Amino acid sequence: MSAARFRTAPRRETRRVQLLEWLAEADLVRPDAPVGGRCAETDSEIFFPEKGENPKAAQRTCRNCDLRAQCLSYALATEQEFGVWGGTTPNERAWLRQVREAQAVAA
Ligand code: SF4
Repeated sequence: MSAARFRTAPRRETRRVQLLEWLAEADLVRPDAPVGGRCAETDSEIFFPEKGENPKAAQRTCRNCDLRAQCLSYALATEQEFGVWGGTTPNERAWLRQVREAQAVAA
């Protein structure tokens, strides 16, 4: 394993801990469509980055949005496949759905 992989692994774990916290918050709110979030005041294109483009600008906006939990709840409930929703990328939401499925099996 390269040195770069060692450097990124803790960051990935930290992000996953944050995603699990956000999932727990999302589970506490209704999955209503987010209306009037911070993205309404921002260039909407950054929320749908092309393959290879960095989603961090959108994620920074979401982090300061009052509707983040509701937005993530909505994106998971409606299986949004594209774009940044509630601060998460499509791959992160796919991982969160796997977590939910594993939790349902274990319950
Ligand atoms: S969490 Fe992000 S995508 Fe969702 S409403 Fe807020 S700014 Fe928009």
